[in-house]
Order: sequence, then structure tokens, then C-alpha cells
Amino acid sequence: MSQHEGRLDAEIRGQLRRISNLPFYAQRALTAGIDLTHVETWEQFQELPLLSRADFEDCFENDTAWGGFRVPGVVRMNFTPSARLGLLPEFHTPSDLAASARALAAVARAAGITADDVVQVTLAYHVLVAARLFDEGFAELGACSLQAGAVPTEQQLNLARRGHPTVLMSNPSFAQRLGEAGLRGIRRMVLTGEPFTAIEGRREALKDAFDGELLSAVDTYGVSECFPVAAECRAETGMHLREDFCVVEVIDSETLDPVPHGTAGELVVTHRNKQGMPLLRYRTGDLAVVEATECECGATTVLPRGVFGRTDNMTKVKGVKLYPSQVAFILAGFEGLDPRQYRITLRESNGVDQIALKVAATTTDVDIAAVKRSLKEGTLLSFNDVELVPAIDEGPTVDDLRGDARRNIASVGSAK
Ligand SMILES: [Zn+2]
Repeated sequence: MSQHEGRLDAEIRGQLRRISNLPFYAQRALTAGIDLTHVETWEQFQELPLLSRADFEDCFENDTAWGGFRVPGVVRMNFTPSARLGLLPEFHTPSDLAASARALAAVARAAGITADDVVQVTLAYHVLVAARLFDEGFAELGACSLQAGAVPTEQQLNLARRGHPTVLMSNPSFAQRLGEAGLRGIRRMVLTGEPFTAIEGRREALKDAFDGELLSAVDTYGVSECFPVAAECRAETGMHLREDFCVVEVIDSETLDPVPHGTAGELVVTHRNKQGMPLLRYRTGDLAVVEATECECGATTVLPRGVFGRTDNMTKVKGVKLYPSQVAFILAGFEGLDPRQYRITLRESNGVDQIALKVAATTTDVDIAAVKRSLKEGTLLSFNDVELVPAIDEGPTVDDLRGDARRNIASVGSAK
């Protein structure tokens, strides 16, 4: 971020020195002709090569056991899905687990959770990393985890009848289902794994499903290799960067230069002190805008619109960057629209770009003007035409008829 300037703090300089000894980073530094032990300023830091998921996959394809990340003292291995390798490992040392527990305890405390709370955790405990890390954060705070795991609704309700949880840790759509199925007594909620604050009206719908009993329902964000990156506090003003745990930059995904606060870009994360599989300038592929706004909790950064898309398949329309997956997040805010089925068509007329959208709808009772307004607000583009259709045979897609190139958008995940 452009406001990162001057000398790097001692913790980051120490981390760079430490990871310069890892074969993975030693090799990259050698290739790039840089010396990580001599990086002293933000300016030098932001010239370091960016790291991608593909770089990790390359390294584990060649060395399937530790992939250039072997350090003494790794006590836990989790996995994250990888399109290329099936599964990609993550390593944690005791100090890594302690650091994430402290960071997640801080997230829980900011969310209004106390040592008196019982937290029902509905995330999967098998293989994936998030549920256990959250548990350790709740334990650090002194709150009690009810480790329900990813079991069906009826079992969750049974467990809740026995355990009397006061907090729910879940993904937003499952939380919604539990509310509709009659779960009560929940006062606070910590949500992860799916877009939440990025979708207009979702928080209100969730609170309605719990009959207004919820004092707060907060959004959290991280990537499986680095959690947490950002989380809301109980004031629900948008997620705050957890810069106690990681360094976050926002870059222009085309030029790769840092963008100023208030400009949408790709989130790039660096661990402050991780030992097992540390990240250095890792491109998340996730789209957000960071603003410098002081919250009543004292935090000074806010992601006012959450994480609202992927940076893949970016294209320019009328000179403005369009991230096609962002459209899914906007459509998900409208009842009756299917955010998984839409087609964007780009044309040129008298030298001016035209953008049209077709979206599958289960009803004709949708306020098209309101959809256009939300699209304009979210993408900064005026859509020339928005049309509701019963179904889209293949989607989501972008038909770019300006250059004769029809492009398919990769899956945009579970926007709804
Ligand atoms: Zn706050």
C-alpha cells in the first residue's frame, strides 16, 4: 500500500532474515538476484518478487514431501485443495500455532466474545485448517468451543440443545439455514468461508433468520495459507486488517504496483513471523478496497465492501477495470437472481464500449433499475442493458465481441 513507507519494522526484517535460509526462498532470491537479509525499507520490500499459488504448486510437484519448506519443529500438517495437485500442504510449528491463536483470540475479543461464551463451530475439522485455528483462538480467550464440525442441520440443533451455545462460528449460508431451522440463543456470530459483507442485504437477512436476537454477526477473511488477514469488530463497520499478524498490500493486478487506499485491487499478504511455510508477498487473487477510516474500536483500516471478487479475467471496459466475478457478488444481493448464471456481453459501437448483462431469474419481479444502480456502484460501470432470462445454458461467461474473443469466467465460488 502506498502508505507503507520508510524503514521496515524489526519483526519483518527478522522474518526476511529467517526465511532467507529456507531452500524455497533461497532459490527464489538467487533467481531474482536479491539478498533478503539486506531488505531494509518498504521501497525495497515492494520490489521483492510476488508469490503465486502456482509457485507453491511447482515446488511441491518437484518435492512432494516438504517442497523446500522443511524447518525443524513442524508439529502439524493441514491441506488445502489445489486444482493442479489435488491437495497442497500447510505446515505449522508450535510458535506458528501460538501466533495464530493470539491473532484469532484478538479477532474473537473484537467480535464481542468473552470467556463466558460457548461457541458452536460448524466448520469441517477434517484436513482443513480453519476450524482448529479458530478453536485455539477461542481457547486463548477462555471461551469454550463446542466442536460440532460439518454435520447436518438436525445434528447441529441437537448439539445446541445440549451445549447451549451463545456464539456460532460458521459460514454464512449454513448459519442462515440454522436460524431458519429454529436455532435460538445465539447472540454473536463469526462468519467465514463465503462472501458475507460483500453481498448487500446478507447480514440483515441473517439477523432476520434469528428473530433479531443477534447482537453482532461479523465477517472474517483469510486464505488457507494465512489466517486471519482481516476481520470485523462488533461495530460491524467492515473488516479491519490484522496487521499484527500479517502485512497486507493492495496491488493493481495488471501493473503489479501498489494502489492507494480507496482503490480496488488484489490483496497481497506476508506473514510477520510464520516459520512453517511462510508467505512473502503472496497474491491471493482476491479483490478488495482498503480505506483508512477510524473505527470506534480503534482500528484504522476498513474493507468497506468486504472481499468482493477475484482478480482473474480482468478486462477493461470504457477504460475501467471490470472483474467479471464481482458481478456475481452484486447479483447475489437480489432475491430471485441466480449469481451463478449470467452472461456479460461487450460490444463496441462508434468507438464506445457497450456492456450488457443477461442473468437467470426465477421471477420477473426484480427491480432492474436497482440492479443497474448496484452494478454501477460496485463496478463503476453503467451497464447499457440488463435482461432477465429463465436460464443461461453456460455461465458465467464474458462474450467480448470487441476483439472476437469469447472468454469463459472461472467459477466465482459460492456467492450465494
Ligand atoms: Zn472496529
